Amino acid sequence: MKHIPYGRQDINADDIKAVTDILTSDWLTQGPSVEEFEKKVAQYCGARYAVAVNSATSALHIACLAADLQPGEWLWTSPNTFVASANCGLYCGANVDFVDIDSKTYNLSASVLEQKLHTAKAAGKLPKVIIPVHFSGQSCDMEAIAVLARQYGCTIIEDASHAIGGTYKATRIGSCAYSDMTVLSFHPVKIITTGEGGMILTNRQDLYEKLVRLRSHGITRNPEQMEGESQGPWYYQQIDLGHNYRITDIQAALGISQMNRIDEFVSKRRALADRYSQKLRNLPLQLPYQEEKGNSAWHLYVIKLNKSYKTKTRRQVFEELRAKGLGVNVHYIPVHTQPYYKQLGFKQGDFPQAEEYYEGAISIPMYSSLTLEEQDYVIDAITEVLK
Ligand SMILES: *Cc1c(COP(=O)(O)O)cnc(C)c1O
Repeated sequence: MKHIPYGRQDINADDIKAVTDILTSDWLTQGPSVEEFEKKVAQYCGARYAVAVNSATSALHIACLAADLQPGEWLWTSPNTFVASANCGLYCGANVDFVDIDSKTYNLSASVLEQKLHTAKAAGKLPKVIIPVHFSGQSCDMEAIAVLARQYGCTIIEDASHAIGGTYKATRIGSCAYSDMTVLSFHPVKIITTGEGGMILTNRQDLYEKLVRLRSHGITRNPEQMEGESQGPWYYQQIDLGHNYRITDIQAALGISQMNRIDEFVSKRRALADRYSQKLRNLPLQLPYQEEKGNSAWHLYVIKLNKSYKTKTRRQVFEELRAKGLGVNVHYIPVHTQPYYKQLGFKQGDFPQAEEYYEGAISIPMYSSLTLEEQDYVIDAITEVLK
């Protein structure tokens, strides 16, 4: 039987050669490939600095530390995201809260954010950090969010794990034109992969220097950052409490090779999305809505069952698609409904738009190496199941 996953990596002979070449080079980690990869991504996205790490989860953690998120302070993010976007606040001992989503884009809603900031100010509980998540690869309304963040003195960390290759207004996602930092993920289902990996982009030198230290134990070898004099060429100082979040040169080499292919990846995803939107349009589904301000990178293609569709439950539709060999998935179970977050005081009903979206959502296969023949099989299967 066919098995068509919802997402998968796209590896060619050039990618394989890039990795095997590194294995016989002088460096397996902390060598020149990491810096080359950083330069390449920073240049592509239009950001000044990039710091590559071993996952987006690590990237989110040290981005929060670089933003000086302290115990007792607040981090806000979207409930419609992977748990990592919220957990990074808890790693810092901060409190986490959520901002409900827009029912069309499924992104954190700028108007809900505005209301919530207004209320939080009166209560003296403004967030230090806001993490907008560019769900499925489509940018949040960053211009509106940036205006609010400036007004209320918040740091913005964009979670662009889905979104390298997407655009917003005149900029590429990752340019940090509307934020302090942007985080990328290179997990195999994302737009480009390094196996595991992540990156933080920023235009601020102070954040860049801090992120570089936090990636590797809080250690610096730069005499300008040291307390007192350097004792010699071997000397380093630990000036922050950092981690070992380093990425290897093996991974970075794969990342460099994947970056050579990113335009091809994104244009293939766009073509598949256009084709889905054309061929699924007469079914009882809400199809992905695209804002005119940007172009999605199309990490995910989510179909949402219309509320008026009662023939089958979402679970029935999901299971029937799985039975036809489609590796469909659901993105996301609202983070505040996870047991760990409930135990912190959240409950069902707290973020109704995210919950309503979740009830009907199914992510269908979307990746650059999906063939048109496979896509037709997917389209036929969905049409058949919803009949
Ligand atoms: C995948 C993902 C992450 C975590 O990425 P890793 O690289 O697996 O740590 C964080 N946020 C979002 C929105 C993601 O999709």
